Amino acid sequence: MQKHRTKFIFVTGGVASSLGKGIISASLARLLLSRGYKTTIQKLDPYINIDPGTLNPYEHGECYVTEDGAETDLDLGHYERFTNVPTSQANNVTTGRIYQSVIEKERRGDYLGSTVQVIPHITDEIKRRVRLLAQNNEFDVVITEIGGTVGDIESLPYIEAVRQLTWEMEEDVMVIHLTYVPYLAAAGELKTKPTQHSVKTMLEQGLQPDIIVCRTEHPISKSVRSKVALFCNVRPECVIESRDAKNIYEVPLMMLQEGLDKQVLKILKLPYGGRPDLSAWRSFLRKLDHPKSEVQIALVGKYVELKDAYKSILEAFLQAGAVNQCKVRVNMIQSEQLTQKNVAEKLSGNHAVLVAPGFGNRGIAGKLVAIEYARKNKIPFLGICLGMQCSVIEFARNVLGWKDADSTEMNAKTKHPVIHIMDNQKEVENLGGTMRLGAYPCQLKKGSLLEKIYGKKDISERHRHRYEFNNLYLKDFEKAGMTVVGVNQVKGSNKTFRVEAVEIPAHPFFVGVQYHPEYKSTVENPHPLFVAFVKAAMAFRFNKK
Ligand code: GLN
Repeated sequence: MQKHRTKFIFVTGGVASSLGKGIISASLARLLLSRGYKTTIQKLDPYINIDPGTLNPYEHGECYVTEDGAETDLDLGHYERFTNVPTSQANNVTTGRIYQSVIEKERRGDYLGSTVQVIPHITDEIKRRVRLLAQNNEFDVVITEIGGTVGDIESLPYIEAVRQLTWEMEEDVMVIHLTYVPYLAAAGELKTKPTQHSVKTMLEQGLQPDIIVCRTEHPISKSVRSKVALFCNVRPECVIESRDAKNIYEVPLMMLQEGLDKQVLKILKLPYGGRPDLSAWRSFLRKLDHPKSEVQIALVGKYVELKDAYKSILEAFLQAGAVNQCKVRVNMIQSEQLTQKNVAEKLSGNHAVLVAPGFGNRGIAGKLVAIEYARKNKIPFLGICLGMQCSVIEFARNVLGWKDADSTEMNAKTKHPVIHIMDNQKEVENLGGTMRLGAYPCQLKKGSLLEKIYGKKDISERHRHRYEFNNLYLKDFEKAGMTVVGVNQVKGSNKTFRVEAVEIPAHPFFVGVQYHPEYKSTVENPHPLFVAFVKAAMAFRFNKK
């Protein structure tokens, strides 16, 4: 394809939050990629936290982790799942990070004594962060999603930065505005006034959207389309309907149908070409829509009231279900409510058990009870991060007989610290960005279940933790039947390896991983561990009967 200058698409939101800017951005990226345009997506978040790593999942859902170890907004997970293109630290920038860089520059004296202000210094830093992604000419298109809604005080500098960019780069910049068009049942009508107001707010700030995507529960008629076009200064074909979808993976096809990519390419003066190649995507959707069997998998965790807290795990299950043409029903179980007394009843009807990642003491007892039940009843088990650590604690207590065995995260004084803080974490004082983060290589043991699942010995997976398996106890565990099947070689420390994965070979499927496989599962490459876990659940269900 002929090389063009990098083009920039900004996606803003109006009327209400949670309209799905992330999904629209990811869907557009999917369409552009399928047409051969190298595309990446960036999220600018207007809050003051440096990154979402220190945010409680109840506040903001899951914290997603990139290859290079950035703790990011969960929208980056959608970007990767839709595009299959890894993101990095540069793809998620918050107001906190912008101010941090500006203040550091001020302290260094880089501003040569001038008064440091929102305009131009903060806006310059925002623009620099956007342009950074175009630096090596790696991408044809950079899509930048601006968090929050226009009109918020905290998004003002971002809108202003985009306004400046539309002047600086004219033809290479465009703006998509996502709004909500509510249906008033009493009037029997779709209402465009909120959209008009939100576009007016943008206009007051000097920004004219080129395309308006209307999120709606009902079809948008031609007259509603013309009305939005007329009041908001856009061509009628640039008013795009975005109806509620059966699942998020339908959205790229809906946007193709509506011609979103066509209008974008027209505005950016990029060749349109023929139809994008979405055959793999369509085949994924076909499989998803036509399952041949069904399993139920228990997800034991402490944030079950909030689906977003386990977003990547739920999406990984959906993708792995499609590969197996099996509908995966995820049964969220609040670990705090699990006890020895009710575990059999609560886990009955589930064909596999996943114990989720997490932090702190709350809900640990229930997780241990669930693991014991899965281990003894040979129910397929997958423990991720804290879930793996809990499987080690459970084994120590109930098989090795060390009743006080624990992680030092839960009990610093235990006589059997089978999980303990990593050496290099002991001195850490700041909580933000200091865990063991991002991708590390892992070597799998020959003949292990995991080696069979991955089909290779050397893998790389992403991490987010401070505690780890205590190698002092390795021999005891192996003698008693829990084996270490994945290690990360460590250089320059007094230990030679970190434990990344454990298995119980006598169990049909008992796997604990210190890393997070869910972050790497995409539509194009569903994660092999999730695919195998769903297969194990199917085997459990159908062999049992
Ligand atoms: N709390 C544990 C640790 O810090 C597990 C973290 C996790 O599950 N992401 O090691």
